[in-house]
Amino acid sequence: MAIGKSEEEKIIAAVHGLGITGDDEGIIEAFGVLLTNQYADYYNTLSFEFEREVLKAAGNEFEEITAELLISAAQDCAVNTLGGIWASPEWSAVVQPYVETKEDVIHGIVAVCNALGWGSIKVTEIVPFEKLVYEAYSPYEALGYVEKYGATAKRGKCYMLAGVAGGIQHLVYPKGSENKSVAEVRPVAGKTDLVAMARKPEYLCSDEETCIAKGDKHCTFVATKI
Ligand SMILES: [Zn+2]
Repeated sequence: MAIGKSEEEKIIAAVHGLGITGDDEGIIEAFGVLLTNQYADYYNTLSFEFEREVLKAAGNEFEEITAELLISAAQDCAVNTLGGIWASPEWSAVVQPYVETKEDVIHGIVAVCNALGWGSIKVTEIVPFEKLVYEAYSPYEALGYVEKYGATAKRGKCYMLAGVAGGIQHLVYPKGSENKSVAEVRPVAGKTDLVAMARKPEYLCSDEETCIAKGDKHCTFVATKI
C-alpha cells in the first residue's frame, strides 16, 4: 500500500496518538531521537538575529554565505533527525506498513514532519536521484520573519525546511544506491553512521523558489544534486 493523501492522514493521526510530550525540560524522546518542545519565536530569533549581526559586522554581500551556513546546519540536523526517525521502532509501527517504495519514504517523512507541526508541507514532485520539490504553507521561519520584519526578505528565509529537502533526498537516494531496495537503504539504529553521512551532503536546496518572507503565497523548495 503506497502513501497517498488518506494514508498521510492516518499516519498523522497515529503520530498524534503516540502521546508525544516533552519532559520538564522540554526534551522529547521519541522516534529514536531527541526532539525539543520550544517556541518557534525563540528559534527564529536565534537564527535571524545571528544573520543580522553577521551582516551588520561583515556587510550585506555576506547574506548568501550566512544563508548557506544556516541551511548546511539544518541539513546536518535533517539527516541525523529524519534518518533516526526512519530507523525508529515508531516508524516501523506507524509508517512502515504503508511503505512500498523509496518515494513512500519521502511521503512518510513529510507526514511525520506535518504531524509534528513543522510547516504543512506538500510534496509536488519527486525525480528519484535528481530532484525533490515541496511546498510549505505554514513554515514557522517565514511566518516568524514576516511577523518581526514584514515580508521584506530578498531571498528565502526558511533555512530549516531548505535543509530538510536536501537531507531527505540524501537519505532516500544516496549515491551508489540505484540498485538497492528501499529496505536496503533504510538506516539501522546504532549501525548506520548518519553523522558521517551528513558531513558529505549530496543534494542541496540553496534557496527557495518562492517564500512567504518575500511576499509569496507559500514557500517552494527544490533540492537537486550538488
Ligand atoms: Zn519560506
